[in-house]
Amino acid sequence: MTGSAFGSPARRVAVAVGPAVLLLAGLGFAGAMHPGAAVVVAVAAVAGAFWLVRPPPPPDAVAKPLPAPSPATLQAVLEGIPDPLIVLNGAREIIAVNGAASESFGIGSLGRDLALSLRHPEVLAAVETAVAGGSSSTTEITLPAPVPRTFALHVAVLGEENGPGSAPAAAPRVVLVLRDETRAKRAERSRADFVTNASHELRSPLSALIGFIETLRGPASEDVAARERFLTIMQSEAQRMARLVEDLMSLSRVEINEHVLPRHRVGVADVLAAVADALAGRAEKRQMTIRLTCPADLPPVLGEADQLTQVFHNLVDNALKYGRAGTTVEIVAAFVERMPGTPSGALRIAISDAGDGIDTLHLPRLTERFYRADAGRARRLGGTGLGLAIVKHIVNRHRGQLTISSRIGEGSTFTVFLPALAPPVGDARQGVGGPADVIKP
Ligand code: ADP
Repeated sequence: MTGSAFGSPARRVAVAVGPAVLLLAGLGFAGAMHPGAAVVVAVAAVAGAFWLVRPPPPPDAVAKPLPAPSPATLQAVLEGIPDPLIVLNGAREIIAVNGAASESFGIGSLGRDLALSLRHPEVLAAVETAVAGGSSSTTEITLPAPVPRTFALHVAVLGEENGPGSAPAAAPRVVLVLRDETRAKRAERSRADFVTNASHELRSPLSALIGFIETLRGPASEDVAARERFLTIMQSEAQRMARLVEDLMSLSRVEINEHVLPRHRVGVADVLAAVADALAGRAEKRQMTIRLTCPADLPPVLGEADQLTQVFHNLVDNALKYGRAGTTVEIVAAFVERMPGTPSGALRIAISDAGDGIDTLHLPRLTERFYRADAGRARRLGGTGLGLAIVKHIVNRHRGQLTISSRIGEGSTFTVFLPALAPPVGDARQGVGGPADVIKP
């Protein structure tokens, strides 16, 4: 490129940069780029386009050269784009990258062949296809290392290498923009999995019901004893479906509101006492005891009483389901000076059972929808696999935390932390093991 071919230095820079900027703006509007970055680039593009197409000044007008963007300004524009961006010359060597590209793909130095810096056949193939077709293209690619990631790769072919008026170059320059779509893909997959799982969970009791109805209308129509037995099973299958639908609706309601902070003052001691009362009958059936230890001056929390009731109901219900017959479920509430990882005071409510415990392998996944540590047993006990997912979403909405600890053969403890509204003045500060105010048989 020579000075004489393009006039003033400012014009040379604009000719070199103009097409790239226009392409980048196009990418931005097509959704390839972060909207903020697209706006910056679009403004630059419009300004550049106006500058390039303006009518020539009258011979006697005083020429006022526009300030040309410096390399530093251009680099700053690239840095303003949050998606990885790579510019290649006609020889497929990297001539510019932004910080996101260096960070994501470890591109340390310029001037190297793309194939040496980004060893991914899919990227190279997309570049070749775009260049061969002479136009921009978008492809979805998956890069396997270090962790599998899915990107929308936009390859923009910049056209003439040497600007207007000169001979077309053998190979054009190319801009690559990669938008990370891993999270969106994961969310899409998880939605699809959820529908599959929910349908599967509903299908098995439904098939059982249909099967029993057919048997009752056919071979067992005169068999009074079989009819009684089948009706009992049908009732429990129908109840299982009802629980599942109820839990699915709860989960969907909780998810919709998860970002809305609850605004009521709730006394957690009352909530815990009500849950212990409501489940006393179920405990009795298994010769179990619920023991609630709760200081009298436990501070209130900002919450929604119905949702907090559901949290502790689900946790105590699980403790009764998975605890051994004849043992005690402990509910221990206390004020703690700090919620883990925060400087704020919180209520800590621990629900412990003396059950078989849960293998540590399962702990990180227990709050996923339909995840069961022991699927056969959980289903036999009437579980929907949604209880802990509901707990997690409600606790998140209350800006709290849920921790789970367990020892095989000894039992499990599910601990809920909820931000306290005001620190207590007396006993509650003593922490776990304060005075027992309510003891439920
Ligand atoms: P479910 O309705 O199956 O109980 P949850 O979401 O409440 O579903 O719990 C998920 C899984 O976590 C259960 O299937 C069970 O394997 C395990 N789990 C939950 N609570 C306990 C507990 N207290 N002791 C042992 N395992 C538990």
